[in-house]
Amino acid sequence: MIIAKTIEEARDQIWKWKAEGLTIGLCPTMGYLHEGHLSLCKASIADNDKTVASIFVNPMQFGPKEDLTKYPRDLERDTRLLEEEGVDMVFVPEPEEMYADDFCTFVDMTVVSEGLCGKSRPVMFRGVCTVLTKLINIIYPNRMYMGKKDAQQLAVVQRMVRDLNFNLEVIGCPTIREEDGLAKSSRNSYLNPEERKAARVLSRSLRMAQETILAGQSNPASVIALIKTVLLNEPLAEIDYVEIVDGLSMQPVDQIHAGDLIAIAVRIGTTRLIDNFTVGDPLIESAV
Ligand code: AMP
Repeated sequence: MIIAKTIEEARDQIWKWKAEGLTIGLCPTMGYLHEGHLSLCKASIADNDKTVASIFVNPMQFGPKEDLTKYPRDLERDTRLLEEEGVDMVFVPEPEEMYADDFCTFVDMTVVSEGLCGKSRPVMFRGVCTVLTKLINIIYPNRMYMGKKDAQQLAVVQRMVRDLNFNLEVIGCPTIREEDGLAKSSRNSYLNPEERKAARVLSRSLRMAQETILAGQSNPASVIALIKTVLLNEPLAEIDYVEIVDGLSMQPVDQIHAGDLIAIAVRIGTTRLIDNFTVGDPLIESAV
């Protein structure tokens, strides 16, 4: 596996592959990899001649009070996992490689990025759109793989790609969960054992919402109330948001239909976790 630390190193290799007519899949990550990230790589390896993963904890998408400095990192383990998976190149730039001191150009969005996580984390999607634009311009992927676990991020990026005519396909991959239903996340490593147990309430509340929707409930307020009741029953959980929105526009809906997104953000202690499902998805398994 090629380890590229600079844009020049990455591009040199990319242009060789392009000259051979090979297709390229890109899996952007912030590292501290788990099976969720690796599932994106698996999908890319299946669809493309070459797969590139990036590992970059993007300072631009963290607010001043967020966890940029304590975000977990383990580059040695990450590169080993990617190599074992069969990834062809990992791009691991330092922040200075990506952002010149006088950097002043941003990719921003309205509507899709404004609610849900955009409300609680106002700078995040500007940072995500800007860094992904840069990564796309460096790697020139034919396809880019992103997790449905970050459903709003996926919707934002799909909209950006459509609106700005990026020449690539964005592929949403299913959420990979722990055995008890908790969505895998690098931030789960912040949880102490008691919090880890409490964190099961996220997937449990969503599973109950799935069941009630399957049973015919289509009123968003009722489903939101049900989720909030389950979450509030867990003393360590503090609700950031519970929302039901259109799956593409991320705008609230009056009635629940297939394709709508039920999304939650919950603080367990000081750790903010998110989870979601799309109406019509298979039931969340093993939620306890
Ligand atoms: P991150 O490193 O958290 O920025 O995530 C990098 C990519 O992996 C994003 O597209 C995420 O949506 C995706 N991802 C993270 N966790 C999961 C998961 N549990 N299942 C599927 N994809 C995931």
